[in-house]
Amino acid sequence: MVKVEVAREAGACYGVERALEMTEDALAEGTSRVRTLGPLIHNPRVVASLAERGALVVSDPREAAGCTLVLRTHGVTPAEETEARELCSSVVDATCPFVKKVHRAAEKLSAEGYRVVIVGEAGHPEVTATLAHAPKAVVVGTAKEALALPHVRKTGVVVQTTQSAARLTEVVSALLTRTEELRIVNTICEATSGHQGACAELAARADVMVVIGGRNSANTTRLAEIAAAVCPRTHHVEGADELKASWFADAGLVGVTAGASTPASQIHAVVEAIESMVGE
Ligand code: SF4
Repeated sequence: MVKVEVAREAGACYGVERALEMTEDALAEGTSRVRTLGPLIHNPRVVASLAERGALVVSDPREAAGCTLVLRTHGVTPAEETEARELCSSVVDATCPFVKKVHRAAEKLSAEGYRVVIVGEAGHPEVTATLAHAPKAVVVGTAKEALALPHVRKTGVVVQTTQSAARLTEVVSALLTRTEELRIVNTICEATSGHQGACAELAARADVMVVIGGRNSANTTRLAEIAAAVCPRTHHVEGADELKASWFADAGLVGVTAGASTPASQIHAVVEAIESMVGE
C-alpha cells in the first residue's frame, strides 16, 4: 500500500500568512482600490487569485497613485517606500519582520564601517531591497565569488532569509581568507531551516518526493534541490493539476513538502490528488 506523508514542517510561514491576512483585510475594507507592489508572495496561483478579487500587481508606486498599496513580503527599497507613502491613499507594510531584520543588520554593519557581504541570489527582490539599505554592499552567492573579493580589514555578513546553512558556511569559510575581522549576523529564517531539515529527513525515506510551490520561489526551489539530492524521483509542482500518475509507480512512500509561500489549501489539494492516483 502506498503511503503519502507530508513533511513535519511545510507550507506557508508566519510572514506569508501575515501578508495574506493584511491583504485580505485591505480587500475586505473595500474603501479604495488595492494594489501590491510586485507579487505579494512568490506563488503565482495565490497572486492570480488575489488579482481576480481586485488586488492587482503593480511594478511601481506611481501605478498605484490614490490606491491602497501593499508592500510585498520580501521587502521594498527605501525609495519605493517613500514614493508609495507620498502617492498612495494608504500603505500596508506586509514586509516580513524577519526580512526587516536583514535590512537593519546591513544598515548597522555598513554604518560601523564594515564591508557588507549579502550572502544570497543577486536580483532576488529580497536581496535587491537589502542592497538598497546598504548600497555599498556586495552580493555573494558562492565560495568562488567570495574568494574573488579584495582583502579588507573588516567584513560583515548578512544572509538572504531563504539561504541554506551549508551555503552560508561555505561562503564564510572563503571570506576568512579575504578579511582580518569577520562579523556574521545569521539572518537565515527559522521557517526556512525548519522546512529544509524536515524535507531532508522525509526525502531520505521517501521513494518519490513532491515539492509544491512557485517556480519563482527561491525557498521552494531550494527544497526541491535538497530533496533531489537524496531522492532522485523528486518533482516540483505549482499545483495538483501538474501531477502525473506515472511518477508514483512502484512507490511505497510518497513524501510531500511545500515552500513557505504555499497555503495549506494547495498542500491538501495535492495530497488528495496523489491519494486518488495511487488508489488510497
Ligand atoms: S520564509 Fe521567513 S523571512 Fe521569509 S516570509 Fe516566511 S517567515 Fe518571513
